[in-house]
Amino acid sequence: MNPRQRLVLERLSQQEVLTIADLAQELSVSKMTIYRDLEALQQVGLILKRHGKIFATAKLKGEDATHCQMCNRNIAAQNLFTLITQEGRKISFCCPHCGLLAYGYRQDVWQSLATDFLHGHVISAWQAYFLVEPELRICCSPSVLAFASEEEVKRFQKGFGGHIETIQAAIEFLTQSDISMKNYQSKQGGFDERTT
Ligand SMILES: [Zn+2]
Ligand SMILES: [Zn+2]
Repeated sequence: MNPRQRLVLERLSQQEVLTIADLAQELSVSKMTIYRDLEALQQVGLILKRHGKIFATAKLKGEDATHCQMCNRNIAAQNLFTLITQEGRKISFCCPHCGLLAYGYRQDVWQSLATDFLHGHVISAWQAYFLVEPELRICCSPSVLAFASEEEVKRFQKGFGGHIETIQAAIEFLTQSDISMKNYQSKQGGFDERTT
């Protein structure tokens, strides 16, 4: 996928309709170039092209946005965490806990979006502040909440504890506690070790 195609998919995750004319102008390339880029995206079923307009298909929007792809819990909009893969597939998670854990295990993440815990708007996970292990269980454990504002995450931490992390540190923390959890469970006989 080239950078122009990625931009198109990124836009379509935020916007319903794009036009070829606007894209050609914005990217300073000919309509023919954009047309070829879009043709390839249409062939793999990510977009629909109609009369100079571009729409996201159900495939791009993510077929199942109602259940977490990590733990299968129902997804509530206020905790939604989304990963977009390099092929433009959208994967939905119940909360930052599952989303960041999946991010840590996947090699094909292109974009990640979190939902601000206080205001409910979508934010780039790379710009978010993550409050890890607050004394407030909203979804999965250990609990992870996403905030857009540094001031607000600090204020929230005063009331509910936990530690504030960047995305990298939060992923590291979660994957590590996930691995130690699995080791613990296998020692307790929770995992079948006979095949290994
Ligand atoms: Zn989950
Ligand atoms: Zn969860």
